[in-house]
Order: sequence, then C-alpha cells, then structure tokens
Amino acid sequence: MRFREALTYDDVLLEPQYSTIRSRKEISLGNALSDDLWLDLPLISSPMDTVTEGEMARAMARHGAMGVIHRYNDIETQASIVRELQAAASSALSILTVPPIAAAVGVTGFYLQRAVTLCESGANILCVDVAHGHHILVKEALRNLRSELGADVHLMAGNVATLAAFNDLADWGADSVRCNIGGGSICSTRIQTGHGLPGLQTIFDCAATDRDVKIIADGGIRTSGDIVKAIAAGADFVMLGSMLAGTAESPGEIIEDSAGHLFKKYRGMASKDAQITWRGRHSSNEGVATQIPYKGDVDPLLQDIANGMRSGLSYSGARDIIDLQTKAKFVRQTGAGLNESGTHILSR
Ligand code: IMP
Repeated sequence: MRFREALTYDDVLLEPQYSTIRSRKEISLGNALSDDLWLDLPLISSPMDTVTEGEMARAMARHGAMGVIHRYNDIETQASIVRELQAAASSALSILTVPPIAAAVGVTGFYLQRAVTLCESGANILCVDVAHGHHILVKEALRNLRSELGADVHLMAGNVATLAAFNDLADWGADSVRCNIGGGSICSTRIQTGHGLPGLQTIFDCAATDRDVKIIADGGIRTSGDIVKAIAAGADFVMLGSMLAGTAESPGEIIEDSAGHLFKKYRGMASKDAQITWRGRHSSNEGVATQIPYKGDVDPLLQDIANGMRSGLSYSGARDIIDLQTKAKFVRQTGAGLNESGTHILSR
C-alpha cells in the first residue's frame, strides 16, 4: 500500500518575502462570512463549555471576532445568552453588515426546537456541532434546518477531514465548514479511534474546493504563527479553544493550588468529565479534561494575536487575507529547523 504524505503546522514555515507595507496599520485582517456577515478579526471561539458563553462572545465581538455559544445547556439558558448578546452586539462594522451572533446545535433530540428558539432570540449563525460531520445525521440536520429556518440563517457545520466531506457538507447546505478531525489540544480521537488527518493538510486539501463555502481551520492552533499558516494554506477563519481557555472570560471558576498558582479547567466536550456533567453518564471518550494556568483578561491576548497576525501578513508582503493566500510560499522544515524555530536560548 502507498501512503501519501500529510503535513501539519510544525512541518512547514512561510518564506519571508519583499514587503512594501510601511506600517501594520495598512494591513486588513477582515473577512466575510457571507454577504452581510463580516469579521474584522477572522477568529472564532469554540463552542465548548470552558471556552464560550456570553462573556467570551462579547469580548470576541469587541475585537471584531466572534464566539459560538456552546450547546451543553438547556435551550432556555443558551437562548438567554443569545438574547443578551443581541443588546450588546458591537456595530463597529460596516453599515452593510449585521452583528454576527452564533450558537451551536446538535443533530439529535430537540435540536430543531433549539435552533428555532436560538434564531427567534437573535442568532443569525447556527453551528451544527458534531465530531464526525461527514455523517447522515448531519446531512439530515442541515436539510431540516434549512427548510425550517430558510436561507437567511448562516449554517456552519463540521468537523471534516477531507475535501470529499467538505464538498458534501457544502452540497447539503452548509455555508461554512469546520475543518480538522482529531487535532484539538484536548482531543483523543486519533488515540481512541486511529482516525484523523494532520490539521494543516486538511486545510490544504479543502482549499481545493470549487464550492463557495468558507473554510474554518479548527483545532491544534497554538500561536498566532499557526493562525497565519492556516490562513495562508486557505482557511478563511480560525477557530480557537485552548488559546482562549483559562482566561477571565472563559466559563468556570478560578482554581488555586496549595502554592498559590491559579488555574482554570479546560476540557474536551467528548471527555468523560464533560459527558458526566451534561448527561450524567459517559460512553466513548474522545477528549480529556485538564487545568491550565489562569491567563487573566482575554483582551491583551486577542490584541497580541492580532498583532502577530498583522506581522505575519507583512512578512509575506500581504495587505489582506486574499493577498496572503495568493503570495504565500510554504517550505517544509526538518526537525532541526523546528528546533531552531523555537526560542531555544530558554532551554539551555
Ligand atoms: P484547540 O484549539 O486545539 O484546543 O481545539 C479546540 C477544538 O477541539 C474545538 O473547536 C473542537 O473542534 C475540538 N474538540 C472539542 N472537544 C473535543 C473533544 O472532546 N474531543 C475531540 N475534539 C474536541
């Protein structure tokens, strides 16, 4: 059997190129999710119960980004978070766009009722949030949601690993697709099941699509450098879990250990811990629960990420996302190159 090679973030670097950009202010990071939905900063916080509820979604909106309210609660709780967002939604956007308000739904049980209630409460983006998106239940859910809610609601769906899956979800009615299976920092899908694809390869593959559907790079993104690589490879937006977890705005208590160090919980939604909380029992576990150091307010973190992204575009001589995707030149790096790419003085 012949195997093809599949690359991920640490396998590649972007070649620096001649730049005519005099200031990072000349660079635009904005991107359209659809004709009337625009993000100034193309970042989306994950629909996870230790990442996105109202506070995180509001913080993301302040920076021109967006949060997806997780679905691991009763319909009324999720809908009330969405209603609060509608009052608070930032209108620093162009007059041609409406503030994006996003919430997740599943594909079984009362998901249609949840979806209708969320839209009546002000959501204009619904995320069909399942681990294996290339699935008959997702096909049926997308068809049902579209016929129940009409063309106005933006349907995000996923997750997928392959171009065939991406195109199928597009044909089933998705407007954007979350790409990457098994790459999340808290994910054990590849360990448990042997399935998945290195995350950046999925972006390279899905970027070959001829469908007019947005690509969301999701999972395994640890730095602003990874974000720049994902976008250069063809992603329109990048979804973040661990980078935003552990902040003041992520849901959950601050935990103090006996030495006075502060932490917050971060857990996979398919972890035993999360399943016990929300369903009272657990089946197949494809995620882990952990504590990560408390990071404080998310605002300076988002500012740092945006600054890193702007510098990243400047190194490729690119003024915006399309320019970056056109100009980007990837090289493969060796293990020695990867060592050199880290701040190696610190480890001596
Ligand atoms: P991170 O940014 O690397 O921490 O990954 C976050 C992403 O992991 C989410 O957006 C989901 O796509 C994915 N994810 C969330 N919970 C789980 C899980 O329990 N198992 C596998 N993947 C998960």
